[in-house]
Amino acid sequence: MVTISMEEQIKMLIELQALDSEIFNKKRFLESIPEKLKEFDKIIEEKSANLKNLEEESKNVQVKHKEKEMDLKMKEETIKKHQGQLYQVKTNQEYKALEKEIGSVKADVSLLEEEIINMLEKVDQIKKDVVKEKDMLEGEKKKIQEEKQKIEIEKKAAEEEFNNLNNMRKEFTEKIDKNTLSKYERILKNRDGLAMVPVIADACGGCNMNLPAQVINEAKLKKGLTLCGNCARILYSEG
Ligand SMILES: [Zn+2]
Repeated sequence: MVTISMEEQIKMLIELQALDSEIFNKKRFLESIPEKLKEFDKIIEEKSANLKNLEEESKNVQVKHKEKEMDLKMKEETIKKHQGQLYQVKTNQEYKALEKEIGSVKADVSLLEEEIINMLEKVDQIKKDVVKEKDMLEGEKKKIQEEKQKIEIEKKAAEEEFNNLNNMRKEFTEKIDKNTLSKYERILKNRDGLAMVPVIADACGGCNMNLPAQVINEAKLKKGLTLCGNCARILYSEG
């Protein structure tokens, strides 16, 4: 087995980190997809429920309108009947009572007519609202269908890239010393996919903590793995 210098290994780990960051991003993207799809379904569910409520309301208003129309018809018939009876009554008193009754029903009728006009306006408005809501839902469904197709295509591409990157990674890691690799991988796992960080202006490129001069020196010498005292990532000096 050919021994590889620590300096060479650190160089490889930096390359591996670039690869792992890509893998990490792809993985994150792929993991975010089910949530996105769920969100879409939720939007459609909410809009469908709105439409259903509106349709229900529309039906109720129409039923009430029909009831009022029937009520009106009955009252109009009552007036006609009473008017017919006017010619059959014997006494003045009966005549007056009947006339009073007719007047009262007529008052009811004019109130009803007014109510019916208002209801008709409401029926028309709600019918228009239902059509509008239906169109909106259809538009939304179409838009979401397109979005879903787009995501499906992106998903396939990301899966393919993810597999390719992992194959590349496998090949690449075979060249790295097992011990060094396992240290790196442990940090990678515990530190959100970022194990290798540069020293930037005497601070850790991962957590931004200022580094002691000795640690910076160690990182420059590249004789072993230098860890940040704060976030425990592997430091490397770009200089
Ligand atoms: Zn740090």
